[in-house]
Amino acid sequence: MKGVIIGGGIIGMSIARELHKEGVAVAVVEKNKVGRGASWTAGGMLAPQAEGLEPGTFLDFCLESRDMYEGFVRSLEKDIDMNVGYWKCGIFCPAFSEEEEKELKSKLETYINIGLTGEWVDRKELENRYPSLGREVVGGVLYPDDAQVDNRLVMLALEKYAKFRGIELLEFTEVKRVLIEKGKFKGVETSKGVVEGDFGIITAGAWSERFIKAHIFPIKGEMAAVDVFPEDIDRVFFGSKAYLIPRKDYKRLVIGATEEMVNFDEGNTVRGILQLLGGAVETLPHLKDRKLQEVWYGYRPATPDLLPVLGRTDFENLYIASGHYRNGILLAPITARLMTELILKGVESRYLQEFSINRFRKE
Ligand SMILES: Cc1cc2nc3c(=O)[nH]c(=O)nc-3n(C[C@H](O)[C@H](O)[C@H](O)COP(=O)(O)OP(=O)(O)OC[C@H]3O[C@@H](n4cnc5c(N)ncnc54)[C@H](O)[C@@H]3O)c2cc1C
Repeated sequence: MKGVIIGGGIIGMSIARELHKEGVAVAVVEKNKVGRGASWTAGGMLAPQAEGLEPGTFLDFCLESRDMYEGFVRSLEKDIDMNVGYWKCGIFCPAFSEEEEKELKSKLETYINIGLTGEWVDRKELENRYPSLGREVVGGVLYPDDAQVDNRLVMLALEKYAKFRGIELLEFTEVKRVLIEKGKFKGVETSKGVVEGDFGIITAGAWSERFIKAHIFPIKGEMAAVDVFPEDIDRVFFGSKAYLIPRKDYKRLVIGATEEMVNFDEGNTVRGILQLLGGAVETLPHLKDRKLQEVWYGYRPATPDLLPVLGRTDFENLYIASGHYRNGILLAPITARLMTELILKGVESRYLQEFSINRFRKE
C-alpha cells in the first residue's frame, strides 16, 4: 500500500512518519523545500489555555495533543538523535488593564472549574522576578501546563527522519491536480509527472483550497526575533499586544504575531513590525536594547469556524487534514495519530466526526 501526501508541512510530515512507522510506503510531494510553509514561520507555542479556548470538543482535542507532545518529541528525537527544543516552561498571560485582569481571571476560573491548572500572579510578585516589567502590567495568569517547542527544529527533525528512514520526499515538485478515476483517488499530476498511490491526503495548509472545496483561506501573520538572555525572561509571555517566546537554548526571543486577512500578500510591513516590537517593549521595556535578528511572515490555514478539516472527502481514498489555523504545531501529534487510525483501521473518532468537511455542506 502506498500513500501520497500533498504538502510537507508539520501536518503532512507527521502523518507521513506515523504511517511509515506502521509499515506503509509514503511519498510526500512538496512544491518548495519541506517544512518551509506555516510550520516554519510559527511560534511553536503549545498553548490551549493561554489561547483562551472555550470548553468543548476543540479544547479537549488541543489538550489531548498537548498531553501527547512530550512523547511525540522524545520519540522523534530518539529516532534521529536530535533535540527539538521542547520546553514545558509554562505560559504567562499578562494583563495590561483592570478590564483585561477581569477577563483573564474569569477564564482562569472556567479552567479551574473543569479541572485544569492555572494561577493569578500579582504585580508585586512579578516585579521580584522581572525588575523591568512594563508599567501597565497589573498582574497576570500563569498556565504551568502550556509549553513550547522549536517548530523549525521539529521540521528539520521530520525531514531528517524522512530522508534517513526511506519516506519518499519529492521536493520542489508542485501538485497541479488530484487524479480521480471512477470516484476514487488514483494519484496526483505534478510539475514533474504523475505520482500514483492507493490513497492521498491533502495537507497543503493555507493552499489546500486548490484541491478541494473546504473553505480554507490564509490568515497572514508577521513575526520577529531578537537576542535574549536568561535573565530577561524565563517562560513564554502571551500578551494581548504581542507574545514573547524565549527558545530553550536562549539563542533567540521569538515575537509574534499579527493577524490579517490579506490573502497571500507577501512581505513584512512597517505597521506589523512596529506592533510586534512595540508590544514586546511595553511588556519588558529593557528589550529595546536587544539586537534584532530576523523578521518574517507566514499564512495560517483558516476555515470559517476556525476549526480544522479532518478525515474523509467525497472521493474514496482521498483524505484531508488541514485548516489548523493558530494551533497546527500543537495539533500535529493527535492529527497524525487519528488520520493514521482512520486510513489503516477505518476508525473515525469523535474528533474526526466533529471536524469533518461535511459540516460545511449542512449549511
Ligand atoms: C505567524 C504564525 C504563528 C503561528 N504560531 C503558532 C503557534 O505558536 N502554535 C501553533 O500550534 N501553531 C501556530 N501557528 C499555526 C501553524 O503554523 C499552522 O497551523 C501549521 O503550521 C499548519 O501546518 P500545515 O502542515 O497544515 O501547513 P504548512 O506548514 O503551511 O504546510 C503546507 C505545505 O504544503 C505545501 N504546498 C502547498 N501547495 C502545494 C502544491 N500545490 N504542491 C505541493 N505542495 C504544496 C506548502 O509549500 C507547504 O509546505 C502559527 C502560524 C503562523 C503563520
